Amino acid sequence: MRYASLASGSKGNCHAFSDGESTLLVDVGISFLQIRRRLEELAWDLGQVKAVAITHEHSDHIAAIPVLLKRTDWSFLATEETMAAILAIQDIDIPAHRWIPLRAGHALDWEGWRVLPFAIPHDAADPVGYRLERDGYSAAVVTDLGLPTALVADHCSDLDHLTLESNHDVQMLREGSYPPPLKARILSRVGHLSNESAAELLDRVWSPRLASVVLAHLSEQNNDPELARFAAMEVLRHRSTQLQVATQTSPFLLSMGPGETGDGMMGEEMRIE
Ligand SMILES: [Zn+2]
Ligand SMILES: [Zn+2]
Repeated sequence: MRYASLASGSKGNCHAFSDGESTLLVDVGISFLQIRRRLEELAWDLGQVKAVAITHEHSDHIAAIPVLLKRTDWSFLATEETMAAILAIQDIDIPAHRWIPLRAGHALDWEGWRVLPFAIPHDAADPVGYRLERDGYSAAVVTDLGLPTALVADHCSDLDHLTLESNHDVQMLREGSYPPPLKARILSRVGHLSNESAAELLDRVWSPRLASVVLAHLSEQNNDPELARFAAMEVLRHRSTQLQVATQTSPFLLSMGPGETGDGMMGEEMRIE
């Protein structure tokens, strides 16, 4: 099983998971050109991409959909409310055979994968995180949430890999230049996860099985990758879990699964600074 962070942050999010035969993207908030370039950079076969699982309809998660509908035959996994919101925002139609409807809390079998969307608190129509399972390997992507709810923690238990939002440092946000209403939105229970809350969740869900954590959706203005890393390291110190920070511009990949952790990840870590 492989995971790649293609982009993460308020200017566009895209994560990739592969079992060697099929690739599932989670969100497509960067252009199709960038998706192609970044997969190519990681020597990842574009031809294996079969579908995109959408977390919610904010533009940094869906921007490429109109182009992908025209230029690829990929399917789109999304809940009914999220798909309705996307169609309204982008003023597009989606052919029935390109849409695989999801319901939060209900697992779906996709190409032999178990895809489980689960509700997260965020100011969108029906936002979800994803738990993905394949060949005994479990991973989750959880970004764009105001609170680490018990439901989110439940779905992040016994993971091999977790991509987790670590959006802002609360003090930097409070003292920063964002207008007060925007600060309030980010800090609210349907906003974004702080470094502190991300670390709290990490502590709750950590198990010896957790091989890797990628901190994602960092704010460029209200965070510093070192602060995010430091908060998570407080939890991971003396534990064997590898930690990386996803960025807006530099893709990287992790190979995991039985016997695959270790060297490759350390090597890749060099790329993200
Ligand atoms: Zn976002
Ligand atoms: Zn969002």
